[in-house]
Parts: sequence; C-alpha cells; structure tokens
Amino acid sequence: MQYTEIMVRYGELSTKGHNKKSFIDRLGDNVRHALHSFDQVKVHAQRDRLHVELNGADYDQVMDRLKLVFGIQNFSPSIRVEKSFDATAKAAAQMIEEQVDHPITFKVETRRSDHHFELDTFGMNNQLGGYLLAKFPDKLKVDVHHPDLTLRVEIRLNGIYLSSETIKGAGGMPVGTAGKGMMMMSGGIDSPVAAYLAMKRGVSLEMVHFYSPPYTSPQALAKAQQLTERLAKYSGNIRFIQVPFAEIQETVKEKVPEGYLMTVQRRMMLRLAAALMVKRHGLAIFNGESLGQVASQTMESMLAINDVTTYPVLRPVLSYDKTEIIKIAEQIGTYDLSILPYEDCCTVFTPPSPKTRPSVERARKYEQRLDIDGLMKRSLDGIKITNIHPGEDFLNQNEDVFAELL
Ligand code: ATP
Ligand code: MG
Repeated sequence: MQYTEIMVRYGELSTKGHNKKSFIDRLGDNVRHALHSFDQVKVHAQRDRLHVELNGADYDQVMDRLKLVFGIQNFSPSIRVEKSFDATAKAAAQMIEEQVDHPITFKVETRRSDHHFELDTFGMNNQLGGYLLAKFPDKLKVDVHHPDLTLRVEIRLNGIYLSSETIKGAGGMPVGTAGKGMMMMSGGIDSPVAAYLAMKRGVSLEMVHFYSPPYTSPQALAKAQQLTERLAKYSGNIRFIQVPFAEIQETVKEKVPEGYLMTVQRRMMLRLAAALMVKRHGLAIFNGESLGQVASQTMESMLAINDVTTYPVLRPVLSYDKTEIIKIAEQIGTYDLSILPYEDCCTVFTPPSPKTRPSVERARKYEQRLDIDGLMKRSLDGIKITNIHPGEDFLNQNEDVFAELL
C-alpha cells in the first residue's frame, strides 16, 4: 500500500486547556526534528491531529521514528483519495485485498469535518460497509462491537483519508513542555532510565556528568556520552556537561573520615549540579536514586545529601525495584551500555563501608575542613559542554585509543 500520510493522535495534552496550543506547537517541532532527515516529509500540527505528509517517503522508517516521540498517543498510516465515494471504495477494497488473507470481522468508522460532502457519517458507514461485504463475501463479516479490523474514513476538506491500523505511540508529554532540568547522569543503569522517565513527562534535560581523570578511563566518559546519545533518540540533541571531579575526590579522601566520604562527595556533586542549574536556568535537578538500593540511597542519606540545596531534587525511579528499572533499560536500549565494566568516578572512590545513616551535623562539621568555594570554582571553571546528537559514536571511535592502553 502506498500510504500518503501518517495521522497522529495526541495523548494527554488534548486536555490541557489554554496550554494546548503551545503543547501542539512543541510536538510539531519535535516531530519535525525527529523526521528532519526525510527531506520530502511535511508536518502539519493542527488542533485535533498532527498530519505527517509522506510525499513518497518510506512509511515504515517514518513510523519507527514517530514511535520514539513523546506526546503521541497513537498514529495510523493513511491513504488520501479524491473526495468521492467511488475513489474511497476503490482504495478500501485495495486495503482489504492486501491486508486480509483469512475471514475476519470488520466495521467502517467515519468522521466528517467537511459537512458539505454528499454522504454523512452514517451514510458512508453503510454504503462503504455494504460495498465491501458484497465484494468480499468470503473474507468479511460485520461486527460493530469487537471487530478484528476497523476501517477508518475521515472526510476532510482536502480529501478523504482511509486507515486500518492504529499503532501505539510513546505516550507522555512533548519534550520541552515541562521546562529544563539538570540530569545527574552516571554510566550506571538507573540514571539513564530516570532520564528517560523525566523526558517522557516533558522535561528537556541537560546531562551533568562527573568524571575523574586520571582515576577514571576515557571509556567511562565515552560510556556516559554514548548513553546520552541513546537517550537523544527520544528528545533530539542533548547538552552534555562534563564536570571535573578528581580534585574534589582527592581532597575529600584526604580530609574526611572514611564513613563520610560518600556523603560528602555526594554533597559536592549536588552543590555543583545546583550551581549549574541556576547558571543555565534549569528548574530542577534529576537523579537516578532508588530508595534503599545502596548506602547512599537511604532516606537518612538523602536527608544528609539534600541538605546542601533547597532546589527540587527529583528522583523518577525512587520507588522502582531494580528488576523494574532493568526492564525499562532494556526497552529503551540503554542496558547493554550500562553494564559495560568501565568504572565511573564514584566507584573508584567508594569506601568499603559507607554509612547508611549519616548525620547532617557531622557531614556539615567534616566539610568545614574543606575550601568548598575554591573547590567548586575550580571544578566549574573546568567544565566542558558539548551537544550530543542521535547517531553519534563515542565508544567505538575510541577503540584504537583503548587498544593501545591495554
Ligand atoms: P546509576 O545506575 O544511575 O549509576 P546507582 O544505583 O549506581 O545509579 P549511585 O552510583 O549511588 O547509584 O548514584 C546515585 C545517583 O547519583 C545516580 O543515579 C546519578 O544520578 C548520580 N551520579 C552518580 N555518579 C554520577 C556521576 N559520575 N556523574 C553524574 N551523576 C552521578
Ligand atoms: Mg552508579
């Protein structure tokens, strides 16, 4: 079947009252962005539907991209015919011919925005249904309640659109409609999943990644970048901010008792993320903490770490079990990368037995031994910001370098 357009139905955003227009405009931009490599495709974001005009583009490839765009409830590949019953009947018969190879039940469901068309919805349902039944007596039977196939007919001003398939979209809200957040992105399993879930609710993320050369390898950095690349498929380009953390870790290790190394390092990370958030006009910080998963993720720990900022620290996977997080990681294509063995900055400086119930007062007291402002300034002066695009390669491009290191 040579489809002429993909008809896209909106999700939750249709209920958003006066925000609706900005949601639709944003979704239109996001879809255009996701499809920008198809030169001939045109995207029209209208009030009730979004129409992707294919102009000959491969509809399977276009639909694969659409499946990743948040804010889409579902979509249907459609064919446009001239506005006459005969043209509609001919195209519908061709669809049945191609798609149905054994007896099924069906119904015709018509919507009409052009009220001048000769048939109303009832008339079209009846006439087209009758025509198809007569043409395919061995294949088709009508079932208006639970049909195997629903043939959708939309009578619009510029033509009649026919579709028979409805494909589930990614759901959620268009990325960008919720504002900007700073994602604390490690190379682990949890933070990429947290990032995905935040984006799904419309947050446009900038990644903040702490790295500690020479204690951590170039592969650890490349892994975090590659994970960001995987996530960029869902949102378009993502800013990646790499923040040098070695001096802070060395200093903390030297000055703070072992039981508080982890707590104080995390406090420094959060301070830096908060500083970047303010500078870059973000509205919240996101991380991949899950309650009770490890020592730094008890509520006592969160209290002691969160003490350094009053900005919202949002934790999309807080209540998820590890198995649930892994399942999502597999679905979104980050798991295979996350389990690569390259250690990030935290693992390297993790003490054997961090306190699971650190006290806020002690953390504050030990920190008095540090020049917090100086450490932060030097780290922030050393940040590097890049823009990561879908399709970019970080891990393989460095293979030769890695081979030499071995
Ligand atoms: P993850 O799988 O996301 O690494 P985790 O269970 O391994 O999580 P931790 O390593 O304790 O947990 O980290 C908790 C959270 O702190 C991470 O989810 C992430 O948001 C943040 N974080 C940890 N390491 C880094 C890092 N190197 N750069 C940026 N953020 C980090
Ligand atoms: Mg980790």
